[in-house]
Amino acid sequence: MKLSLPKGTKDILPNQIHLWQKAERVFAEVCAQYGFSEIRIPTFEHTDIFERGVGNATDVVRKEMYTFEDKGGRSITLRPEGTAGVVRSFIENGMGSMPSPVKLFYNITAFRYEKMQKGRYREFHQFGVEAFGSSGPEIDAEIISLLCTFFERVGIAQTRLCINSIGCPSCRPIYHQALVEYFSDKVAAMCDDCKARYEINPQRMIDCKEQRCKPFVTEAPRQIEYLCQDCRTHFSGLQASLSSLDITYEVDPSIVRGLDYYSRTVFEFVSDHVGTQGTICGGGRYDRLVETMGGPSVPGIGFAMGVERFLMEAESQGVVLSEREPVKLCLVHMSDASYQKVFQLAHRLRRAGISCEVDLMGRSFRAQMKYANKLGIPYMIVIGDDEVASGKAKIKRMKDGFEMDIEISDLPEQAALFMNESKKEI
Ligand SMILES: [Zn+2]
Ligand SMILES: [Zn+2]
Repeated sequence: MKLSLPKGTKDILPNQIHLWQKAERVFAEVCAQYGFSEIRIPTFEHTDIFERGVGNATDVVRKEMYTFEDKGGRSITLRPEGTAGVVRSFIENGMGSMPSPVKLFYNITAFRYEKMQKGRYREFHQFGVEAFGSSGPEIDAEIISLLCTFFERVGIAQTRLCINSIGCPSCRPIYHQALVEYFSDKVAAMCDDCKARYEINPQRMIDCKEQRCKPFVTEAPRQIEYLCQDCRTHFSGLQASLSSLDITYEVDPSIVRGLDYYSRTVFEFVSDHVGTQGTICGGGRYDRLVETMGGPSVPGIGFAMGVERFLMEAESQGVVLSEREPVKLCLVHMSDASYQKVFQLAHRLRRAGISCEVDLMGRSFRAQMKYANKLGIPYMIVIGDDEVASGKAKIKRMKDGFEMDIEISDLPEQAALFMNESKKEI
């Protein structure tokens, strides 16, 4: 037996989980404030959902999917991203007949067989939203503003919003042709991926990161110079909406997004923070995806954010997402008889919503005190035979020994009162 994690996976341990929980909570709160409802989709889907929904030409589908045959002989794939599954669900559940726009958010794990590098995992987490049914630039601005609010609420600064328009089916073929011509005498000198992209979709050569391709790519024509009138109007509408919300942005013609189904608006939030430069989150409009996957002709837009990448960014910017909350109260017993009492009291306290710890290791009185100290539990009640007999005990604040008498019969109420009051004093 190999007692180690598979490459590209990780444990999220108890000493890190509060960061995840805080990020998840804030993301869900912000999404709700913008009128988005959560959707939960399955971890795996039929493989063709991703082949059609993500695109056969993408690296994700060509090289990175975890695909296997199940015992019934079906080709199954662990989701490499969230959008395709959400679109499948949107179509299958007839959400097109719901009041528009249909605004959904998700918090998922996803799976890609990728090269290992810092902050990259083969099982990773994504926050995302998808909105269906609205084609105007206002919803693009709303989704971008949702992200701004999220970053602001968790305390992430130093992000730059970059936007671009990658055109529509009527203006893209003209651009496509321009690229074919431009790359025709250069493709031989470019990487193997670009050679393949040249045949399938030369637009995807634009975001090649290979050193040998870069000089050709930087000089290539840009979609933004080939936009049709409708696309230009849409793009200037987005810029006007962002400006009216006081959201700073820059137009970056080099953003193309790796997935085939995007059209018009694409955007990225990029970190300028030293040591963690790069894209934190990206998204865009996919007006033809729902139809491509067999649904009605419904426009859509969404984004996805890698949670690991986001947490790395938060850490490097010194954001304190939240402190781990230790258990509030420790009940310490002094004898076998009082142990029974303490055990019952802990149950009562917890039912009343007060977190507490009680000895489960047969520790001596001194060892219980040491344990409570080690865990940083801020309040303590010691109960011995005298306390059981008199029905009275003392609750103590550990940092300065400040204490108060309480009636054991009234314990949950009196303990809660003491802890609340003494917090205010601090
Ligand atoms: Zn167009
Ligand atoms: Zn290349």
